[in-house]
Amino acid sequence: MKILSLALLVAILLFTGKLHSQSISPIDSSFLNLSYKLTQTALADTFGYNLLRELCAFGGRLSGSKNLLKAEDYLLKTMSGMGFDTVYTQTFTTTNWQRGKVEKFILRGKNSGSNVNFNVAALGGSVGTNGLLRADIIEISDFDELEHRKDEINGKIVFFNFEFNQKVYDSFSSYGPAVNFRVNGAHRAAKYGAVAVLIRSVASNFDDVPHTGTLRYIDSIPKIPGASLGVRGAVFLSELLKKRAMGEITQPLMFEMELDCKTEGTCEVKNLIAEIWGSEKKNEVIVVGAHLDAWDKGEGAHDDGAGCVQSIEVLHLIKKMGIKPKRTIRAVLFANEENGLAGARGYAKVTQDDVKKHYAAIESDRGGFVPRGFTADASPEVISKMTSWLPYFTMTGIEWFKKGGGGADISQIKGSNALIGFYPDSQRYFDVHHSENDVFSSVNHRELELGSASITILTLLLSEFGL
Ligand SMILES: [Zn+2]
Repeated sequence: MKILSLALLVAILLFTGKLHSQSISPIDSSFLNLSYKLTQTALADTFGYNLLRELCAFGGRLSGSKNLLKAEDYLLKTMSGMGFDTVYTQTFTTTNWQRGKVEKFILRGKNSGSNVNFNVAALGGSVGTNGLLRADIIEISDFDELEHRKDEINGKIVFFNFEFNQKVYDSFSSYGPAVNFRVNGAHRAAKYGAVAVLIRSVASNFDDVPHTGTLRYIDSIPKIPGASLGVRGAVFLSELLKKRAMGEITQPLMFEMELDCKTEGTCEVKNLIAEIWGSEKKNEVIVVGAHLDAWDKGEGAHDDGAGCVQSIEVLHLIKKMGIKPKRTIRAVLFANEENGLAGARGYAKVTQDDVKKHYAAIESDRGGFVPRGFTADASPEVISKMTSWLPYFTMTGIEWFKKGGGGADISQIKGSNALIGFYPDSQRYFDVHHSENDVFSSVNHRELELGSASITILTLLLSEFGL
């Protein structure tokens, strides 16, 4: 079907005699041709994929870590050698949370040989347990149940066992409801006297790997430790507690928890920025961005190494194809998205009085999977204009433009025509997200490069055609 409609489109373009055009107009055969060549180049030269391999070799890139400093130096050096018009950094300060070395949650048996050790990960920003914490557990399925049972919470570890909704096509829509317990579970439970929280990992698969991510405290409520359990561990714990409730287990269950994570002062983090200056409208900037920091459990391959290399690859492909864009294209690798957003906030502040203005921004922070569409925080007119560009994306997998969020990092930018989020397929993202599963080997080079091509084509359409 797609091939037929494309052939038809090319025939119409030939018939209307627009092939010779050098300036770019809404349906432009030379741009169509360029979009194919660009996609073929991305797939064949695998620049982004190879860069991602190097980036992932540093390990997780949490703010304040040595890995992040090494990754910043490496990428800065790499970008500086690529012949862009300028490469520079912006430095900001953020809180320095450290995971520490101890992460334990144990069900004590009759002797140490019969202990059950659960796989747990401290939630980002969590306080430690201050030594060994012994307490009973109460399983709570959601905040309604927490309110109904608030008199049973005091002195206990609250175990939020909220399941990731598997009954929908788009797994991004399952993330929000589930992550609510990771972000807000600790202060909600602490309000009723809980001593710690455990959550079922916000994950779409069924392994026993815990997925981390930030929690939030409220100043007026005591700060209690929070950790996540792997999904299988959470299911096991739930079954155990149900058996106890039904009287099938009569001996007392002894639980122990220990975390030595802590927030220690502040650390410096950097936004890394590279630009190709516009040939006609230098002061109109199109941002392509992603975040460089990544949780320490994995290598930050999909989240968000993929977006970083795609952002750099936009500039690489433009140069490689010999294109001189009308507007300035700025790749921004934002700092500290995962636990502070200092890079995004700082960027917005630094650029607000700049002579260069943001024309549009695109963010890639949903993994390096096969492209599906773009969501845009923009007017209906802008979205329908972008939808008219779909023929240029035939080779990439992009099938739609829809109203929606652009992304956390670009959300701080004010006054642009469109804040756009790249939207790849969502089936596998939450298998790896914020966990030790998020490693280079989980990225497919063709899928990653198709994403790079999609973002580059959209960047050029914005630059050359305008909205
Ligand atoms: Zn991310």
